[in-house]
Amino acid sequence: MDWRQNIREVEPYVPGEQPNQSDMVKLNTNENPYPPSPKVAEALAGLDPDTLRLYPDPLVTDLIDALADFYHVKPSQVFAGVGSDDVLAMSFLTFFNNPDKKPVLFPEISYSFYDVWADCFHIPYQRVKLKDDFSIDPDSFLQPNGGIIFPNPNAPTGLALPVDTIEGIVKANPDSVVIVDEAYVDFGTESALRLLPKYENLLIVQTFSKSRSLAGMRLGYAIGNEALIQCLKNVRNSFNSYTMNRPAILAGTAAVKDRAYFDRTRNMIMETREQAKEELTKLGFTFPDSKTNFIFASHRSVPAKKIFNELRERHIYVRYFDKSGIDNYLRITIGTPVQMEKLYRALREILAE
Ligand code: PMP
Repeated sequence: MDWRQNIREVEPYVPGEQPNQSDMVKLNTNENPYPPSPKVAEALAGLDPDTLRLYPDPLVTDLIDALADFYHVKPSQVFAGVGSDDVLAMSFLTFFNNPDKKPVLFPEISYSFYDVWADCFHIPYQRVKLKDDFSIDPDSFLQPNGGIIFPNPNAPTGLALPVDTIEGIVKANPDSVVIVDEAYVDFGTESALRLLPKYENLLIVQTFSKSRSLAGMRLGYAIGNEALIQCLKNVRNSFNSYTMNRPAILAGTAAVKDRAYFDRTRNMIMETREQAKEELTKLGFTFPDSKTNFIFASHRSVPAKKIFNELRERHIYVRYFDKSGIDNYLRITIGTPVQMEKLYRALREILAE
């Protein structure tokens, strides 16, 4: 016996690579190709370094108030964290804690961090099957469970469920917290927010990393009824009262307040995505009908891994998952029209070989 027997052994999540080449086209981690709102730069320029002596506001009042205002909810219904990964990890810890060890349910093809958190926190889980077209099967959540989580739209498939279908899942599971991970909701899907007044077991999680161009700042949030949010705060305050740093609070608040910029940039991305669907179809790709800032595409004759590697040699980065069931797909983030042109040109070359 030695110290190793006391270790929490985990197999970590592996994020997409972050290469740093001046000529690269980076379409591998679903970042926003546009800079954050100019109001963010203004807010950061106004940051007095002297204030960094002081701890940040543990209640994160400015950011929470701005989010509450934006989403027409009470500040007591909002929780902020260090990216939605932080919010989701804390939500697993807080809400997926049933004494009977019933499994938490999530789709078999989904955000691959869910199993990692469940393993890390020793939460039993079960992956539920998707339909043949990769869509989430709402009936798969009609079985005993200790909680439910799924992204809407789902990642990496890009497919969205209508809110009425989500309502059916939430309604059928009053004894479980249902978490809807809306990381990509701003690219053309209706949010489940309108269900909140009716269901106290629903938690909605969103991020600043995609539609608000702030992946580098690490900002995410949850919206739910006050009791759920208070439980999250209690857990957070049981290991770190100051997760949100001052620059992040300033930047996030400024970004939320600039609705016009948010609408303009997400519309640009949706437009580019619809063009990308046409271009990729012409090139021989098929894909589920994405409502996100990425397309999950498979080529009818050339293996995804080969395309991935050839693109990589040209400093064009997309995401490839070497996982059974999806190992012939590429997840391509929507970039600027210029970046997408470079991608199409490279694909034409590779596919002509
Ligand atoms: N949920 C989903 C479905 C995602 O794809 C991502 C991005 N990797 C996240 C949550 C986490 O994003 P962030 O921590 O940057 O908010």
